Parts: sequence; structure tokens; C-alpha cells
Amino acid sequence: MRDDKDAMMDDRDSQDGRSNGRDRRFGSKRGPFRKKVCKFCTQNLVADYKNPDMLRRYITERGKILPARITGNCAKHQRALTTEIKRARVLAYLPFDRQ
Ligand SMILES: [Zn+2]
Repeated sequence: MRDDKDAMMDDRDSQDGRSNGRDRRFGSKRGPFRKKVCKFCTQNLVADYKNPDMLRRYITERGKILPARITGNCAKHQRALTTEIKRARVLAYLPFDRQ
């Protein structure tokens, strides 16, 4: 019953630690980069609470509104969008929260 202790003694210090062990390109960790465009600007759309299918693309599965950081909307349209989403929620077009 004394197998375990010997396995721990495996010291390998022989590989010279000076060769820049942490050069691991950090930049490419962000995932696929999508070009951010405001769809409301480019396509001349207006956020509309009567069109929940369109609004649904700007909320999460749980019904939360996505931040402009993710949607790429400009501030002006993001603001209009959130207003419309909230309006749509009151009218039960969209969920407040889904489990
Ligand atoms: Zn816009």
C-alpha cells in the first residue's frame, strides 16, 4: 500500500525555462469578429413594438435585452429599441423573463 508517494517525485527541471514560455498570442481569443453595423441606420428600419419578430433578435433567450455592445446598434437606435421592447413586453408580445 505505498504506491502513491513515489509517483509524486517526478521532478523535471531540466528543460530550460528561459525560452519565453508565455508567448501565447492573446489577441485571437475573442472569437469571430463581426462587423458592427446598426441595422436601423443601414436599412432605414424603425424599431416597432408591433413587430415582435424583429425585436426578438435583440433579446436573449431569457428575454433580456442585448446591449448595444453586442447588437452593434448606435446609441440612438438602441435607445429606441429598448423602448419598443419594453412596450412590447407590456403588451405581451415579448416575455419579461423566461425560465
Ligand atoms: Zn442607428
